[in-house]
Amino acid sequence: MVIGAGLAGLTAAWALTRAGIGVDVYESGPAAGGRCGPTGTASTPDGSTFVLEHGLHGVWRQYRNLRGVLSALGRGGDLVPVDDQGVILPGDPPELLDLGRRVQETRLPDPLGLLAMYSHPRLLRRLGRSALRQLPRSVRRGLELLSFDPSQDLAQADRETVASFLEDWPPPLRQLLAATTHSAFFAEPREVSLAALFLGLQLYAALDRRDSTFHTLREGCVGSLIQPLVAALTAAGGRLHLGRRVTGLRLNPRPSVRWHDGGPEEADGVIIAVDPIAFQNLDLDPALQARLAAAEIPRGVGSVVVRLWFDRSPGRGPPAGVAAGLPVSNYFWLDQLQEDYRRWAAARGGAVLECHLYGDTARSAVNTDPAALIQTVTTLAEATWPALRGGRVHGHVQQNAPIHPIFSPGILSGAPKVDTNLARVALCGDWIQSPTPVLYMERACTTGLEAARHLTHHLGGEITRIPKLLPPFPPRPWVPWVQRGVRGPRR
Ligand SMILES: Cc1cc2nc3c(=O)[nH]c(=O)nc-3n(C[C@H](O)[C@H](O)[C@H](O)COP(=O)(O)OP(=O)(O)OC[C@H]3O[C@@H](n4cnc5c(N)ncnc54)[C@H](O)[C@@H]3O)c2cc1C
Repeated sequence: MVIGAGLAGLTAAWALTRAGIGVDVYESGPAAGGRCGPTGTASTPDGSTFVLEHGLHGVWRQYRNLRGVLSALGRGGDLVPVDDQGVILPGDPPELLDLGRRVQETRLPDPLGLLAMYSHPRLLRRLGRSALRQLPRSVRRGLELLSFDPSQDLAQADRETVASFLEDWPPPLRQLLAATTHSAFFAEPREVSLAALFLGLQLYAALDRRDSTFHTLREGCVGSLIQPLVAALTAAGGRLHLGRRVTGLRLNPRPSVRWHDGGPEEADGVIIAVDPIAFQNLDLDPALQARLAAAEIPRGVGSVVVRLWFDRSPGRGPPAGVAAGLPVSNYFWLDQLQEDYRRWAAARGGAVLECHLYGDTARSAVNTDPAALIQTVTTLAEATWPALRGGRVHGHVQQNAPIHPIFSPGILSGAPKVDTNLARVALCGDWIQSPTPVLYMERACTTGLEAARHLTHHLGGEITRIPKLLPPFPPRPWVPWVQRGVRGPRR
């Protein structure tokens, strides 16, 4: 049995069926996908209807295992490249800087390519002379990021928060790094572990300029990933049961599960693949509770997504980016990234903007009238892209439940592992410790594959049919050399 049909649970179930093991997946919600699944629909005044998701998802270069799953499902061609990212900085009007392209085009060798972003003339102007005093300390702390080695330094950096790391940075750079923290971790710098930021920056940007670009999925997470996973799973004999909330798990004499409306029912093995909030509400067998007594379970955080449909185009500019010190945390032009929005925009000469609100902005947005929120984001969009003025034809506000894990200090190093030390029970999900240092969808995928391997090993299936875990690509050959130079005799 697999409990939870998010990306982690579906990946695990799919891998088990490949190994020849029969699987039943129990999902409490009305649809599969979890945070990669559908949230509802929106209809525009012209009668077009869109299936909404939790928010646009990026697939980075280092998501090697997720990309492997997509290829195995025949969906490798659904990846849409996003080669450029912008940054919106506050001002009257706000300034949209094309920083992604600078990193792509600089002649500086990696890992110094990212400096091209920070040396943008308009950013330097904002820095001013006073920043020079703070620069040496910022550079020192920047070098810490560069030389961070997750295999050795994770536990130590996992004790500090991003806020304390940012204390002495010049304000514009602090704002930029805070915006990156918001965008990557949905939370405030005071809530996020420094290890998470270092890991995120190394994976998504700092060591290799190729990591600062990403892909989105042409048919969204639902059409390009979740539906194909469910189709492959059921074609191989796996069964998906929707609307079945698991409430408890007992292990003796064999694993058995209860639902909100029945049970117990026995299984040969169980994979728990729920979000961290749901996990804490499960009535677990005392033996499993004892194994997990010392583990750190993350708190959950919500987010708010505002979508605006325009009857005109914003003009040129990066299709996605982050916003610093503004009412939104990041933005995506959906019509450039996802097929259904592209078709709608092409037919009308229009565009569709999606903005995510994270951290404290999301917390206060929850109590804001949706019409006021739509107006706030429209005002920001029209100030940033003046060509949009007066062109909004529809707006939609969506609140995502507070179940997304916050990687606060202690979580990355203390979260439960896939292997519970109990032969017939494994855990997976984006908050479970991954055998490789990755985050989010890739973590859901790697822990899902690992959980399937664990059970296959104990239940006796064809383990060679489960894709082997791929570690992140190694950095360019000279990067370790630079890192060793920066770390000096510390090792
Ligand atoms: C707005 C937004 C944007 C994001 N953007 C990105 C991105 O750009 N890149 C990226 O890599 N990641 C992104 N993510 C994160 C990504 O969605 C998650 O990392 C991933 O979907 C987690 O999958 P999961 O299977 O671990 O958990 P979940 O998706 O939470 O799945 C858990 C499942 O368990 C089910 N469940 C819970 N309790 C029970 C129960 N008692 N019984 C049965 N079923 C139960 C839930 O309904 C759910 O379906 C984003 C998330 C959000 C919300």
